[in-house]
Amino acid sequence: ASGCSLLRDPRYNKGLAFTEGERDAHYLRGLLPPAIFNQELQEKRLMHNLRQYEVPLHRYMAMMDLQERNERLFYKLLINNVEELLPVVYTPTVGEACQKYGSIFRRPQGLYISLKEKGKILEVLKNWPEKSIQVIVVTDGERILGLGDLGCQGMGIPVGKLSLYTALGGVRPSSCLPITIDVGTNNEKLLNDEFYIGLKQKRATGQEYAELLEEFMHAVKQNYGEKVLIQFEDFANHNAFDLLEKYSSSHLVFNDDIQGTASVVLAGLLASLKLVGGTLVDHTFLFLGAGEAGTGIAELIALEISKQTKAPVEETRKKIWLVDSKGLIVSSRLESLQQFKKPWAHEHEPVKSLLDAVKAIKPTVLIGSSGAGKTFTKEVVETMASLNEKPLILALSNPTSQSECTAEEAYTWSKGKAIFASGSPFDPVEYEGKLFVPGQANNAYIFPGFGLGLIISGAIRVRDEMLLAACEYTQN
Ligand code: NAP
Ligand code: MN
Repeated sequence: ASGCSLLRDPRYNKGLAFTEGERDAHYLRGLLPPAIFNQELQEKRLMHNLRQYEVPLHRYMAMMDLQERNERLFYKLLINNVEELLPVVYTPTVGEACQKYGSIFRRPQGLYISLKEKGKILEVLKNWPEKSIQVIVVTDGERILGLGDLGCQGMGIPVGKLSLYTALGGVRPSSCLPITIDVGTNNEKLLNDEFYIGLKQKRATGQEYAELLEEFMHAVKQNYGEKVLIQFEDFANHNAFDLLEKYSSSHLVFNDDIQGTASVVLAGLLASLKLVGGTLVDHTFLFLGAGEAGTGIAELIALEISKQTKAPVEETRKKIWLVDSKGLIVSSRLESLQQFKKPWAHEHEPVKSLLDAVKAIKPTVLIGSSGAGKTFTKEVVETMASLNEKPLILALSNPTSQSECTAEEAYTWSKGKAIFASGSPFDPVEYEGKLFVPGQANNAYIFPGFGLGLIISGAIRVRDEMLLAACEYTQN
């Protein structure tokens, strides 16, 4: 073995932390400057360097470089500085990184499976250097955060999610496999970009899409066995619900946007009831956004109330209302609604705007899951505050640019009454001499632990009870 190849292998490279003995044993003499830094000193040096960058994307790139150079040090940094580095390798900065993936792209991370690989997916999986995989996070890039279709550039998401599986869940990095399935993109900007790294064609749909995914799911099970966990991430909802439904009875799969988010938000709601008072059944919920996150959360709330009160879930759904881009979801819209919205079409006259829906429904809890920024307007927040002593307001959309409102807006417009949490982090806010510390409601607080639980228990299917259990555990 040559010293040079050791220095170039991120899994074993320790840089200046190689000891005198290791430098002798592994032919490293002369290939490193004489100083020996222990890992603590390396960490200090790197954190110092990172803090010099004013542009968040530069921090992201520095972290990715580190991951490719010295994996152990990368995780050491991430574990010891979670609060500071989560916004770098995860939301919000990962969003910008995906948008600019083509131009910051240096060395490929993760596995790309495109339409070109149709019929050969098993071979592609065998090209990956690691043989024993425990977790796959896979996206097709169609709904990256609230940023829309980023095609092949969505790879930043599975890479970031899996780094949290290791840093927060303790899963070995070599057991984690990030995958992007490239079936094209409908993003005109990317299609016209000469530096775009993905397939330059419109998205495959229908049978062509289904066949590629079927081959993928089949190949994964064939290659890694029944116990490999597949986490679906940032698929558009017109595929996400179908894929989950189709594969949940044959594979160990879960959809983080639907199920992980539901579990973490329900945990947050249960925890905040200690501040707000009452139990879930005393509350009325209104969502802006009736997609994966919105209906996923809504359903888990309904299940939990049903568990608590023994009422059938058809009943407990009735105090949960959702607004989509066409207004309040009501029974007169039933015919034209997508399947996953139908359970939420309650009896009510049509209501167009969110503000009017707030006035009509009088929710105690308002949840933003729309991907549309600045939609919790001053009037909306003021109305919530006039209806409630302590309105619960969650602005879940990521990244920060898509947040339904900022922490500062929630606190000032509600005159300090709101209990607020958001999907991407906000700094504490001082309002009338008091410091308000917003919570972060993000599935990152669930999926690494949830996934770890699935892996170590040897589970082969995911069930709703597991999500409820994860959420009961997390609220404490
Ligand atoms: P999705 O399935 O595409 O759903 C989006 C929903 O919002 C749809 O129902 C859509 O209406 C509605 N909508 C969009 N713009 C709207 C507007 N201006 N007014 C009213 N409704 C509007 O997306 P998703 O997977 O649920 O994700 C949505 C957002 O949640 C994203 O920003 C994502 O980053 C965030 N999210 C956060 C977390 C977290 O952990 N914090 C987890 C998952 C997702 P139509 O159905 O009529 O099109
Ligand atoms: Mn997601």
